[in-house]
This record gives sequence, structure tokens and C-alpha cells, in this order.
Amino acid sequence: MNLENVEKQFNQCNKCGLCLATCPVCKELLLEKYTPRGKILLARYYCRGGLDLSARCRDIFAECLLCGACSATCPSGVDLTGVFVAMREELAANKGLHPKLKSAVESLIKNHNISDEDNAERGEWRDDIRNMPDHMYERDRAEVVYFVGCVASFFPMVQEIPRNLVQILDSAGEDFTILAGEEWCCGFPLIGAGAPDRMKELIDHNLEKVKALGAAKIVFSCPSCLRTWKEYYNTDLELFHSTEFIQNLIDKGNISLRNLSVKVTYHDPCDLGRNGRVYEAPRQILKSIPGLTLVELEKNRAQSVCCGGGGNLEMADPELSKKVAQRKIEEIRDTGAEIVVTSCQQCVRTIKGMVRRKKVAIDVIDITGLVKRAIAHG
Ligand code: SF4
Ligand code: SF4
Repeated sequence: MNLENVEKQFNQCNKCGLCLATCPVCKELLLEKYTPRGKILLARYYCRGGLDLSARCRDIFAECLLCGACSATCPSGVDLTGVFVAMREELAANKGLHPKLKSAVESLIKNHNISDEDNAERGEWRDDIRNMPDHMYERDRAEVVYFVGCVASFFPMVQEIPRNLVQILDSAGEDFTILAGEEWCCGFPLIGAGAPDRMKELIDHNLEKVKALGAAKIVFSCPSCLRTWKEYYNTDLELFHSTEFIQNLIDKGNISLRNLSVKVTYHDPCDLGRNGRVYEAPRQILKSIPGLTLVELEKNRAQSVCCGGGGNLEMADPELSKKVAQRKIEEIRDTGAEIVVTSCQQCVRTIKGMVRRKKVAIDVIDITGLVKRAIAHG
């Protein structure tokens, strides 16, 4: 969305305040300017020339998870998150990048990942795989590319996600490859930082590398990488989240699952569920595991509450991100489940970090980990 559309979006708003009730940030910052309704009013003042952009204004728009709960709730169909992303871009262009995001953006452009690491080390998560095949999951040609994403590649807490997924794909006989050091960040953090204009080099590179492999499909374990490819990459390739891909493998009988007598709850990641409309594939996978009991969170599917890890908030305001995560843990604990399953590396990081901090007795696991556990010969 460009800012010309803000007036139209604002005029659609009837000021009912329903978006305030679902916004996780509003529950912590009790001032109108931090609410979705308040922020759209600020955006409209700005577009009418009645508001000088200031660093403080940039901070207000940074206090948001871009989780989409407000847009999903709004009875008038106001595209609140579209306005917020456009305002972040405007603020970055006029006032510069948010100071807490500046070094991360510069490092991403230089290193092609968000972790300030040598990108050649992107495939090091493979080091702990037992019985590693000679090809190490890197092939010259393949039908499917597994796009791992920066967080699962570099953060030890979640590197088991790619380790599990490659072994699941292997056990199902899939013809797939990873890009390893040739995979570059998809560009997603640049959207939230207000710098989508700096994505082009990343997009061109990733498209070229995938094309060179002759692949027809890409599978993503990161919902935000998938969303970025769908919305910003102009490609005819078939794009799947790992849950959709695994569900297909189960339906075709290429994966068989043994009994796991566990009570689990499922957290819908914002970019997979509400923003990607993938609600049923993970639930179908869980229901395919004999003995497993699924108890839903009070707020699930489109009403799911963000874990606190969205919108670059963890970088801009880590304390606020933690407060949102704390409320998420309380909702999870109320289910009485022994395991919370999700399907996003960032949700696993955020929830697991808070579970450890608060010493809560619950396992936090990506769905690939549960599938790996349940594979009959795994
Ligand atoms: S996107 Fe999420 S955090 Fe941001 S205003 Fe909307 S509900 Fe609140
Ligand atoms: S829910 Fe929609 S109509 Fe109601 S205040 Fe929020 S943006 Fe306006």
C-alpha cells in the first residue's frame, strides 16, 4: 500500500475500538497513540500535512508486532497493517532507520543474513546430523528446494528444525536440496524495518540460484520467508510451508507415524495462520499421530495472539516483546498441555525463551520435531 490510500483506510474506520481488544501491544501500553486506531489517526494527520515526522513518531510505529490481529478483527475491513508498513517505510525514508534496527539492516545487506555471520556458514546446522549422506543435502539438480531461512540456519536454539525437516524429507524419498551458503536472507526483516527498497539484490540472487537447480517447488519451514516469497518474489514456482508439504506426504502414504501418547496444544504463527491462511495442515498432521490429544488455545486460528516475536519488536523494544510472550505463556499453561507445538522458528525461540526464563514445565517444539519423533523408523 502507498500512503495515498491512508485517507481511504481512515475513512473506513468507525472508531469502534474493537481492534484495541485484540492488540497485544495495547494490553501493555495503555495509551491511545499505541493502539491500532490511534496509529491510523496519526498516519492520517501525517498524510494531510498536519504532523511533522519525528523520531518519537518512528518509535510509536515501531511498537507493533505487525501481527495482523487488528486487521483481522476490524468489522470495517480497514487494512491497518498495510498502513503501518507504509508508515514505517515513510519514516525510514524521512528520518532514517530506527536506531535499534540500523546495524541489523546494514549487516543483513553486507552479509546476506540477519545474524552478522559469514553466510558461507549457513549450512553448519548439518554438523550434528548422524548418518549424514555424502551429498549433505546439497545437490546440483532437484525438484524441490528447501529454503531454510536465517533464524533456523544460525540460531542454535532452533537449528533442530532444518535438521529434522531434511531427515523427514529424506525418509519420504523426496528429491530435494538446500542452497546452503548460496541461500541469502529472503528480505523479510527489511519490510518491517521500512526498507523494502533494499530487497531487490536478495530477491534476484535467490531466484537465480533456485532456477539454476531446475526446481519446481520450494518448501519453507519459516512462515515469514514463505510470505515474503509469495508477496515480493515474482515467481511461478510452487511454494509450500513445511506443514502443507508434510501433510501431502502423509496423505500419499510416504510417511507413517507411530503412537505418541501426549497432550499438546498448537500455537498458530501470525504469518502462517492469520496472514497466510494455513490453519488446517498443522492440525491435520497432529491428528495423524496416533495417541496424540490436541487441546486448542483459547485464542486460535485467526484469533491467535502473537508470541511477541513479530514485526522486529524484539529488536526495537525487547522488554515489550517479553511482556507479550509472558501473556502467551499464561494462555498456553491454561490448556494443561504438556507440549506446545508451533510451526515457526521465531515462535519457538520466543516461547521457549520465556518458558525457560519463567521455569514453566512445558515442552516447546516445532511441528517438524514432533513428526520426526513419530516417524515409525525415526
Ligand atoms: S499489528 Fe498486532 S501489534 Fe500491531 S497494532 Fe495490530 S494488533 Fe497491535
Ligand atoms: S476495529 Fe476497525 S473500525 Fe473499529 S476502531 Fe479499529 S480500525 Fe476503526
